[in-house]
Amino acid sequence: NGRLVIVGGGLAAAKAVEAARGCTFEGNTVLVTAEAHLPYERPPLSKEYLRGEAEFSAQVVHDDAWYEGRFVDVRRGVRAARIDRDTRQLVLESGEELAYDALVLATGSVPRLPATPSADAAGVHVLRSKEDADALRGALKEGARLVVVGGGWIGLEAAASARALGAEVTVVLRGQEPLARVLGPELGRFYADLQAEHGVRLLRGERVEEVLSENGAATGVLLGSGERLPADLVLFGIGADPATELAREAGLELGDGVLVNELFQTSDPAIYAVGDIANYPHPRHGRIRVEHWDAALHQPATAVAAILGAPEPYDHEPYFYSDQYDVGMEYVGHVPDPAGTRLVIRGDLAARAFVALWLSEQDALLASMNVNVWDVVDEVLPLIRSGVKLCPKRLADPSIPWAET
Ligand code: FAD
Repeated sequence: NGRLVIVGGGLAAAKAVEAARGCTFEGNTVLVTAEAHLPYERPPLSKEYLRGEAEFSAQVVHDDAWYEGRFVDVRRGVRAARIDRDTRQLVLESGEELAYDALVLATGSVPRLPATPSADAAGVHVLRSKEDADALRGALKEGARLVVVGGGWIGLEAAASARALGAEVTVVLRGQEPLARVLGPELGRFYADLQAEHGVRLLRGERVEEVLSENGAATGVLLGSGERLPADLVLFGIGADPATELAREAGLELGDGVLVNELFQTSDPAIYAVGDIANYPHPRHGRIRVEHWDAALHQPATAVAAILGAPEPYDHEPYFYSDQYDVGMEYVGHVPDPAGTRLVIRGDLAARAFVALWLSEQDALLASMNVNVWDVVDEVLPLIRSGVKLCPKRLADPSIPWAET
C-alpha cells in the first residue's frame, strides 16, 4: 500500500478520502486543506446558511472522529505550495515535504474579482467560503442596499436570500436575461420574472465599471451608462476560475482546467485531479469541466478506484440544482449552447411547475431541467444516455409517461 495525499477542503477532497475506505491506515493518507475547517459543501453558503437558517456543521462532510477513525492525517489551514514530481513530494507552504505514491488534486475554484478601482473596499464581497458567507450575512441587515454583479446561479441565489433578509437588491446583468448562456433567453426570462416578482431590480445590458468608495468603504457602483448606483454592499458573482496554480507550476497539461483522462489521471500518471478543476473526456459530450456539487460527489470514486488498481472509466451525466425563493430545480445533461437546440416545455411555465427539455437537431434529448416537479431525473437519464430520436409533441405532453414518449 502506497501513500495517498489529497489536496483540497471541499466535497471532492472528502469524497476522495471516503473512496479510499479500508485502504487508509496509519500514516498512509494525508489531507491538506488551506482552509481552517474540515472539508465542507458550499451550496448552502448562498442559501440556508446565508439566511441564518442552518448551522455550518450541517455542511461539514465528516467530523474529526471520522477522519481519526480512518487514520487520516488531516492538515488544516496550510496551503500546498509546490509539487516535486521527480521525487514525488508535495511541498507545503510551511516547508514540510509530504512524500506520495498517488496525489489527488481537488483544489476547486477561485471567485473572480474585476480589476476595477476599489474592488478591495469594505463592503465588496465574493461568495465561495464560509468566511465569505459570514461576512456577507453579517452585513445583510434589513434595508441594506445590495448590488449583485452578474446574473449567474450564485448571484441569483444570494439575491433571493438577501431579499428574505429584507435587503434591497439590484442585479446588474451584462446580457438581456440572467442565466441565458446556460438556459437560453426564454428560461432566463423565467428566472428574471421570478426575481422581479420578489422585488429585485434587474438592470439589463449594463456593466459595472467601477466600485465607488469613501474612506475605504463601498458607497455604490458606477455603471457603463454613467449612472451611479448607491449601495452599501456589492457582491461580485461573475464566475470563478479553476485553481490550477499547483498543477501549472508542476508542468501538468492544462486546458480549461487540469486535463485528465477518463480515470481523472493527469498527464503525470501519479497525479489525479477531480471536482471543479478537472477537465475530462465525457463519453457523449467530449471534453468538459463541470463546476457543480455532483461532480465533486462522484468523480473522486473513479480516481481513487484507479489508484487502488480497479480502473473504471467515468460515465456520468452532469447534474446540478438550484433553489431561489419557492422555486427549486434540477438540471441533468449537457448543452454547450442552447441557441443550437430545440426547447420543449412539458408542463406549465406560468404555474412554475414544468420540465424544460433541450433537443438536438436530430431530436435526441441533450438535457432536461425540472422546476418544482420532482422524480424526473431518473426518468430522463435513459433517454439522454441512449441518444434516441424522440417526438417533441409527445415529450411535451405530461400525460404520456416518460418511458412511452
Ligand atoms: P471546492 O469546494 O472549491 O474546494 C477546494 C478546496 O481546495 C478549498 O477548500 C480550497 O481552500 C482548497 N485549496 C485550493 N488550493 C489549495 C492549496 N494549494 N493547498 C491546500 N488547499 C487548497 N453546485 C451545485 O450543483 N448546486 C448548487 O446549488 C451550488 N451552489 C453553490 C453555492 C456557492 C455559494 C458556491 C461557492 C458553489 C456552489 N455550487 C453549487 C458549486 C459547488 O459547490 C462546487 O462545484 C464544489 O464546491 C466543487 O468542489 P471541489 O471540492 O472541487 O472544490
